[in-house]
Amino acid sequence: MNKILVTGGSGLVGKYLQKILPDATYLSSKDCDLRDQRQVYDLFDALKPTIVIHLAAKVGGIKDNIAKPAEYFEDNILMNTNLLKVSYEYGVKQFIGVLSTCIYPDKVDNYPMKEEDMFLGPPTPTNFSYGYAKRSLAVQIDAYNKQYGTEYSYLIPCNLYGEYDNFENESKMHFITALLHKIKNAKDNQIELLGTGKPLRQFMYAGDFASIIKYVIEKNITHSFNVAPDFNYSIDEMAKIAIKATKPELTIKYSNPELDGQYRKDVDSSKLRSYIPDFEFTPLEEGLIKSYNNL
Ligand code: NAP
Repeated sequence: MNKILVTGGSGLVGKYLQKILPDATYLSSKDCDLRDQRQVYDLFDALKPTIVIHLAAKVGGIKDNIAKPAEYFEDNILMNTNLLKVSYEYGVKQFIGVLSTCIYPDKVDNYPMKEEDMFLGPPTPTNFSYGYAKRSLAVQIDAYNKQYGTEYSYLIPCNLYGEYDNFENESKMHFITALLHKIKNAKDNQIELLGTGKPLRQFMYAGDFASIIKYVIEKNITHSFNVAPDFNYSIDEMAKIAIKATKPELTIKYSNPELDGQYRKDVDSSKLRSYIPDFEFTPLEEGLIKSYNNL
């Protein structure tokens, strides 16, 4: 019988997974600091998992990434290295690493980006250290498969949002959460957004990503691939969709154009479609309303 261990179980994706994979063991940083190899060995001694879903990461908004690049790199490299190494040593059969479309180059010639475009250039400067640390996990997993014959894999999701995003800590808030917060607390019928509103983004309801992880486990899919819906809206379009669905009277003011981040990073989901052809992503408006109603 399989024993599933989920790191990052207290995070956004972890909370959706808890609902649909209730028998797994879900960890937060309080249960085990994955940066500390001794603690990871003790954890595996106690739990002896056969499947590991590695969600844990140091994740944050653009301002925090700019302020603390060394921490974003080191924490993620340490967590990933410890978890992968100990998983292999304890004979884990299936390991799913969760990366991010931030691993992709800042710019490429052709969009949407395919999995093999990962190494065509450096990640965007605003979160280069997070991007490189996550990209390194892909290298590490590929290296383990090559050297040790494992069939470990990784998923590369686009930006996520949902009811369980971090609504308390501003430095950890993701774009949609921050946007919905601003809409809810708007004064003078206006919200202020950072940047120009022009960058394009794919956003996925985090519950959809949890469903895909469950499918990958149940069908024992050992391939690595992008996970993103096909829509790719500008920040301005997304903000307008959210405003229309919640408080249509609001207008948007943009400031700090230097905080735009990467212009676009949309990825191709044909591999995902080849393994899970019928998957239907939650439409953006529906997911936004669910998240807004939970604020
Ligand atoms: P999240 O909400 O920020 O949660 C992060 C999780 O990692 C929490 O459970 C946290 O535990 C845990 N963690 C952080 N540092 C740790 C440490 N030193 N030791 C052990 N656990 C630690 O993350 P998420 O949004 O669910 O993201 C899940 C995965 O998807 C991550 O790998 C992330 O990089 C990736 N991803 C996320 C997005 C997005 O938009 N959210 C987009 C693409 C990819 P505590 O609760 O105790 O702090």
